[in-house]
Amino acid sequence: MSRTAQSVWNNCLKFIQDNIQPQAYKTWFEPIIAVKLTENALSIQVPSKFFYEWLEEHYVKILKVALTKELGETAKLVYIIKMENTYGNKQPFTEKIPSSNRTAVKSQEVDIPLNNKSPELRNPFVIPGIRNVKVESQLNPNYSFDNFLEGDSNRLARSAGLAVANKPGGTSFNPLLIFGGVGLGKTHLAHAIGVDIKDKYPEKTVLYISAEKFTQQYIEAIKKNNRNDFIHFYQIIDVLIIDDVQFLSGKSGTQDVFFHIFNHLHQNGKQVVLTSDKAPVDMQDIEQRLLSRFKWGLSAELQTPDFETRVSILKNKLYRDGVEMPEEIIDYVAKNIKSNVRELEGAIISLIAQSSFNKKEITIDLARVIVEKFVKNTKREVSIDYIQKVVSDYFQMDIDTLQSKTRKRHIVQARQLAMFFAKKFTKASLASIGSQIGKRDHATVLHACKTVDNLSSTDKQFRKYVEDITKKLSV
Ligand code: ADP
Ligand code: MG
Repeated sequence: MSRTAQSVWNNCLKFIQDNIQPQAYKTWFEPIIAVKLTENALSIQVPSKFFYEWLEEHYVKILKVALTKELGETAKLVYIIKMENTYGNKQPFTEKIPSSNRTAVKSQEVDIPLNNKSPELRNPFVIPGIRNVKVESQLNPNYSFDNFLEGDSNRLARSAGLAVANKPGGTSFNPLLIFGGVGLGKTHLAHAIGVDIKDKYPEKTVLYISAEKFTQQYIEAIKKNNRNDFIHFYQIIDVLIIDDVQFLSGKSGTQDVFFHIFNHLHQNGKQVVLTSDKAPVDMQDIEQRLLSRFKWGLSAELQTPDFETRVSILKNKLYRDGVEMPEEIIDYVAKNIKSNVRELEGAIISLIAQSSFNKKEITIDLARVIVEKFVKNTKREVSIDYIQKVVSDYFQMDIDTLQSKTRKRHIVQARQLAMFFAKKFTKASLASIGSQIGKRDHATVLHACKTVDNLSSTDKQFRKYVEDITKKLSV
């Protein structure tokens, strides 16, 4: 029986999968490709140097056990790192690194240091004329790792952020680029890294700045003819955090100066943390040489949080604000606001505000009204239950009456309106609408829709009903 790299690795994977968390398995083992098997050495290809370091740091024991079971005591593991060529050549190249040798080679362009003969520092954060070399970090202490809740959507970025905070400049996540859509926590995480570093290494110079402000400062510096001072100031930073680098798109002067600063910091083992609303591959009008720098380290994505994470973010927020809220309402908000954390927080804040201003209890109905304001712009589907509720409220009857078999005219009309709106606002079939509104068949629903159409073009009062209910349903 001949053994292939694949079959040996598959056996290792089975063992590993049984012994670690499913999410960790998915993140760290599924992307690995078994490449080659010699007598006692298995070569595996990993996507990046970061990946290799992470495996070595966290999973080396289990890898060893698994491999020894397969290949005996003399088993060896060889990592092949798929690296990006940093010179803009799309062809990836591979580099072999034995597991004992941790010094991976990184290609790097040599940069001419920007020597500034006069050591005087002009700090762009300080009013000109006042000499001040102490750099204020511009960090927001409210953004910490503690209140940045972990979930599948942010695990990689959060762990990498923590690793950077523990050892700024000392990991291969340099730069660390955090990317993701609006309101998903990029700014929060960027601050948290800085705050944590300041905490652990008070002597380090940390600076948080938005790319926009960085650009403004640079333009100022050019105007005042002190470009070199500007560069020099940034070169003394130990941890430079630049938020929203996509802002540099199309600004070639600022990109150029940032390129020099970046190279200087990187060569001197200083940490750079960047955030962006796009992945490097999708960034437009950013120079290639800068993009290739971004890819030197780790790009970690913040994705939209799943339901459980949304619930824990909400609970944490309520807990910190000292507010109690029924579980059912938290669930409702988390279920309906999915796209971003800022909106999630916004909804819960208005809910608290509404209830305390109006001395109203926080109810599901209030939650519904508020949540709908937040998700109004995103296309939503109202439920048939909700339509029945709105219609029966409008006619001041209860839902049971609406659904009953009675032939009283005003009840029949209410029922027909509910059917009509269910057809209009949901994707449900006629049969399904019928079965949900008083167990009628599809022909009845069809008839109801036609009747409502007819009546609203002939009967003024009836048209008013249709208009009023339409408004209520589209709040
Ligand atoms: P971005 O910069 O990506 O647009 P922010 O960092 O400004 O997003 O985050 C928006 C809001 O959501 C902030 O109030 C932030 O504290 C909160 N937030 C985002 N992610 C989390 C999380 N995982 N846990 C707790 N709060 C979060
Ligand atoms: Mg932001």
